[in-house]
Amino acid sequence: MKAFTNINVSSIDEAVSAATQASSNGQSVAFSGGGTDLLQQLKDGTDTSDVVINLRNVDGAKEISSASGITRIGGLITLDELSNSGLNDVLTQAAASVGTPQIRNVATLSGNVTQRPWCWYYRNGFNCYKAGGDECFSVTGENQQHAIYGGGPSYIVHPSDLAPALAALGASFIVAGPDGERTVNANDFFVMPSQDPARENSLASGELLVGVSLPTPAANSVSHYHKIMDREAWTHAEVSVAAVLTMNGEIIESASIVLGGVATVPWKLTAVESYLVGRQLSADVVTMAGQMAIAGARPLAKNGHKVPMTSAAVERTLLALVNG
Ligand SMILES: Cc1cc2nc3c(=O)[nH]c(=O)nc-3n(C[C@H](O)[C@H](O)[C@H](O)COP(=O)(O)OP(=O)(O)OC[C@H]3O[C@@H](n4cnc5c(N)ncnc54)[C@H](O)[C@@H]3O)c2cc1C
Repeated sequence: MKAFTNINVSSIDEAVSAATQASSNGQSVAFSGGGTDLLQQLKDGTDTSDVVINLRNVDGAKEISSASGITRIGGLITLDELSNSGLNDVLTQAAASVGTPQIRNVATLSGNVTQRPWCWYYRNGFNCYKAGGDECFSVTGENQQHAIYGGGPSYIVHPSDLAPALAALGASFIVAGPDGERTVNANDFFVMPSQDPARENSLASGELLVGVSLPTPAANSVSHYHKIMDREAWTHAEVSVAAVLTMNGEIIESASIVLGGVATVPWKLTAVESYLVGRQLSADVVTMAGQMAIAGARPLAKNGHKVPMTSAAVERTLLALVNG
């Protein structure tokens, strides 16, 4: 394992200053939330940062506050705290679905959203796009768990369970860096490999995610997160669906449906959303939504199973909303 310097900080400003200082010394930097992923990457050598800036003791960085129709969530909130926060169902269910109780007790919202891909080529030291190389080995290799949407030139799937839930809720991502704070919507935060195959988000060097803000949900909104895994628990999604609907009685007024586990970024099903508006969630409508969801799917040689799985996951998510 490569030696690195650990810096414990107690404020976001201190974190930004420490990152700026390290960069000006020519050192690479990683921020650490709960460390549930980063520490293993440091041990495995897939993260070779010179300096680790530990955010765990940053004051006030895990609070939830609401004002003027906006709820702000501090990025250092743990997934366990988030799952028990009483916020939107889709978000608390997504948080509760991550890993194990031990992981959720320390893992943070920011770390979850910014975790690196879990493609086995990247995680096992292959010099792929994500490791700074110029090849995606999954294209002709083991691609059972890779993307069926938004692939090329890299085919990783975005690994975060919170990301599709936050995208479905219309979250903005609050980023701090040397130039102060900026707020970015999901479309601009998550980066397709066609834009930059080495990265999954638009955080610049020295920038960190400090939290998210969400429009406070309308009283007539309902939401649900459904996750299918290749085993019963403790792992990432094969396919997941985050759905947020606003209802006028039994009629859908607006719909936001985002897939996880199947695309290089949280994958918004715009055509399905438009189709649902003005309709009731009848059996036929749910079936049609499931079919429409897979219209743009482009499976690789070994991940065709994700196509019917996605269709079924969309159906099950909508049925869960019908059945409460
Ligand atoms: C057995 C196991 C099962 C898992 N299952 C799931 C799962 O089901 N779903 C899922 O989504 N994840 C899963 N994970 C992945 C991961 O542990 C969790 O996503 C966790 O939420 C990461 O949060 P953390 O705070 O521990 O991140 P860390 O390990 O601290 O960091 C993860 C990455 O994010 C970066 N980072 C951390 N904080 C910031 C910040 N504020 N700004 C910018 N970058 C930052 C780090 O540099 C690092 O690259 C699993 C991990 C394990 C080991």
